[in-house]
Amino acid sequence: MSTLTCLRGGRVYDPARAEDGVVRDLYIQDGRLVAPPAHPDAATTTLDISGRVVMAGAVDLHTHIGGGKVNLARMLLPEDHARDPVSSARHPHAGCGHAAPATRTAGYRYAEMGYVACFEPAMLAANARHTHLELADTPMVDKGAYVLLGNDDFLLRALRAERGLSFVRDYMAWTLRAAQALAVKVVNPGGINAFKFNQRKLDLDEPNRHYGVTPRTVLLALARAVHELGLAHPLHIHGCNLGVPGNVETTLATIDALAGMRGHLTHVQFHAYGTDGDRKFSSGAPRIAEAVNRHPNISLDVGQIMFGRTVTESGDTMRQFAGSAFADPRKWIGMDIECDAGCGVVPFRYRNQNFVNALQWAIGLELFLLIDDPWRIFLTTDHPNGAPFTSYPHLIRLLMDKSFRRDMLATIHPEAQAASTLGAIEREYSLYEIAIMTRAAPARALGLDGFGSLAPGARAHVVVYREDADRERMFARPELVFKDGRLIVRDGQVIDEVWGATHAVHPEHDRAIERELDGYFTRYMTVRKEHLMVADDEVRDGGRGALVLHRTGAA
Ligand SMILES: [Zn+2]
Ligand SMILES: [Zn+2]
Repeated sequence: MSTLTCLRGGRVYDPARAEDGVVRDLYIQDGRLVAPPAHPDAATTTLDISGRVVMAGAVDLHTHIGGGKVNLARMLLPEDHARDPVSSARHPHAGCGHAAPATRTAGYRYAEMGYVACFEPAMLAANARHTHLELADTPMVDKGAYVLLGNDDFLLRALRAERGLSFVRDYMAWTLRAAQALAVKVVNPGGINAFKFNQRKLDLDEPNRHYGVTPRTVLLALARAVHELGLAHPLHIHGCNLGVPGNVETTLATIDALAGMRGHLTHVQFHAYGTDGDRKFSSGAPRIAEAVNRHPNISLDVGQIMFGRTVTESGDTMRQFAGSAFADPRKWIGMDIECDAGCGVVPFRYRNQNFVNALQWAIGLELFLLIDDPWRIFLTTDHPNGAPFTSYPHLIRLLMDKSFRRDMLATIHPEAQAASTLGAIEREYSLYEIAIMTRAAPARALGLDGFGSLAPGARAHVVVYREDADRERMFARPELVFKDGRLIVRDGQVIDEVWGATHAVHPEHDRAIERELDGYFTRYMTVRKEHLMVADDEVRDGGRGALVLHRTGAA
């Protein structure tokens, strides 16, 4: 008979069921949460967790943990390998690395913070096999990836020729299947491609020099196709003009362009800059927050920066080329991949005495605190672009503790302090809101059934924290973490290694698109389209992991 474990007396924060600190017992059986048994002493094991804070396992919907860029960053930064001595000392086989950790290190560090699922947001179809090899080698968490579209020659040709929505939809469906992706991301729509034709910027209505197609056209074609396919996650949008002062206008125009259609704007901190003030660099966060509060079709993640060393890895070759002037240390990689897209890897050090960096830090926090609905804003640092994901507990403290936040604000560049509204913001996130933002909301935004909730029937992903006024200490070291009912972490340390599943969608497409692709690959590419297709068994990695396919269908 299977065991029935009871977690007795914890305070449960489960926003999916509107439970805000409800004291109730949880029961785990066969990897799932189950309803309380008829006889209270039916449990074979009981753990007394009275007084503890209990949440579902956390979900990170935007973190660069696998694939080409991550691996390039590891190769570019041998010095980074020595920067996580804690992990390598605890787990001799778990690898190392701080901003660009090894696959196993990433899985261990996430689990140690109570995360059970992490999603790589920038997988190129041409590079999907490599991404899945790395995800398959990332233990402890479930995972998945979003495939990039919008800078590939095939799509831009189709848009130039006005092939229509059903053509784009079928191509998207084929690409999702070939790359074993869960969702679709667009990066600098058409801009990575325009960079190859020597354009150094591309605004929303500026045509790509070669195709004559504008970012607006790319964005809307993809957002509509995602909607038509009925994917749970809307188009994941890394907009034009990342990091450019004044890009708040582009971001607001992008929200308008969607005209009520669902869209997820990613790492918005990097897209929230005005040009006010002597230094022509100011916070656009209040305007963006106001727009997001008015548009229920928009969700976002922040991409908070933290002071210290990291590495930026982005598919946005155009913007990484611009950023390479600030590389620290002075080295970088830019690359182009077939006719698909590209990427850039630039090491970076954010300094609290640098005006721009200090204001970036404040802008991210302003976004968190000025956007009202925690169901539509997600906690990210765009790992590692703003900071390594291991800084999440510190970020949570900044959101939950206004006096700590003010102490930190007092340490940054004085002109940045003066230019920000942060000091006047009273809001403090509650435990309930943190549970929404890191659990219930991202699980819902990705359509992950059984995640983000502690309801009977959900997968038994349970995190138990000791109550602590120092929220950073509290969230950095959960007392217990259960993954699918197994106790994997005790006192912030991994005690049992598990291998999670990969999540993907296989939407239907009209076979006619395959004939088009055959002709295209034969004429222009160095490989056949079959070479891009990642088989289910490859994702399952010889049975070490599993493949979970999610439903798609008319929205
Ligand atoms: Zn991005
Ligand atoms: Zn990113």
